[in-house]
Amino acid sequence: MDLFEYQARDMFEKHGVPVLPGIVATTPGEARAAYESLGGAVAVVKAQVKIGGRGKAGGVKLARSADEAEQHAEAILGMDIKGHTVHKVMIAAGADIATEYYFSVLLDRSERRYLAMCSVEGGMEIEQLAVERPEALARVAVDPIEGIDEAKANEIVAAANFSAEDAPKVAEAIQKLWTVYREEDATLVEVNPLVKTGSGDIVALDGKVSLDENASFRHEDHEALVDKAAEDPLEAKAKAKGLNYVKLDGAVGIIGNGAGLVMSTLDVVAYAGEQYGVGPANFLDIGGGASAEVMANGLDVILGDEQVRSVFVNVFGGITACDEVANGIVQALGILGDQATKPLVVRLDGNNVEEGRAILAEANHPLVTLVDTMDGAAAKAAELAAAK
Ligand code: GDP
Ligand code: MN
Repeated sequence: MDLFEYQARDMFEKHGVPVLPGIVATTPGEARAAYESLGGAVAVVKAQVKIGGRGKAGGVKLARSADEAEQHAEAILGMDIKGHTVHKVMIAAGADIATEYYFSVLLDRSERRYLAMCSVEGGMEIEQLAVERPEALARVAVDPIEGIDEAKANEIVAAANFSAEDAPKVAEAIQKLWTVYREEDATLVEVNPLVKTGSGDIVALDGKVSLDENASFRHEDHEALVDKAAEDPLEAKAKAKGLNYVKLDGAVGIIGNGAGLVMSTLDVVAYAGEQYGVGPANFLDIGGGASAEVMANGLDVILGDEQVRSVFVNVFGGITACDEVANGIVQALGILGDQATKPLVVRLDGNNVEEGRAILAEANHPLVTLVDTMDGAAAKAAELAAAK
């Protein structure tokens, strides 16, 4: 999950990274009030969108009066920045910038460790710097166990060629930013620009943070950072029900047990649907215990997807045997009643498969078609999605 700049700013502040005061606003009036409460002469009105290059796109403006703050907010709110609509602005205290630096630490998957990047040439787009002047961007490997201690921070600032005057202050800020990275379970913490002010202080002026959602179980407070307005409503509904669901574009709804089986089901459906131009509508792994309730919740989410025209239920009976799953499907259809309106193709295999198939045959539900093989079921589901 990527954070907005104002959320990153708050997180930095919590961990002692030097930042300037900032107040979020959703209307020009709130922006005016924010400017006034900051109490300084100069403030910056900044678009809050989860994409870089806001400055260049006109989403970062200096305001020297309450009127100006209000006018800039008026212009920036509703603006489209690279496909992202601005719903919020942050009114930040203006900085007296002497120099702009760059720092980031991120997860380096291919090297199985972290990577710190740092430059005395910040402000500009770092991708551009990396291409045009790679020697100006220091890259220092960070051991996941040791992290960024004082020695490592000194190594980073030395690699980036900071002056003797700036080096200790920047190293200190880097250690604080590492604290954010580690304590919050981030996969990216980037500051561009990290500035030196006229009085020689180091301040993080823009922050980008990505959090590792796999660690959300140990960060109850991260839930509040989710941008509910931007969440896909079906994904939000599935999440609330504890389901592993990802919305895709196709017309064949997919339910399976086990992430691996669901992944291969997506492939098989994509292949079978090619001739009709239909594909999988979602990923949904209902996990091991496919109870009636879980099955009903899964079907409910999938049937709520307007694009879905058929559903493929692909189950391999293991610890939860096929007869239990079959009962789950029958009961789920009972729970859903009239809400179940789309054809279901069911493929069962594995433990107690005969009993499972017998239960579905016995129930003889008008929407359900039983197919014995995965390829056959995928072909049938694709055909049904194409026919409607
Ligand atoms: P980005 O374009 O999305 O990366 O947004 P930033 O927050 O990095 O702002 C872009 C640029 O605006 C910075 O590199 C600064 O040059 C400038 N800027 C941001 N805040 C201030 C400020 O408080 N004072 C001044 N003078 N310039 C600022
Ligand atoms: Mn920036």
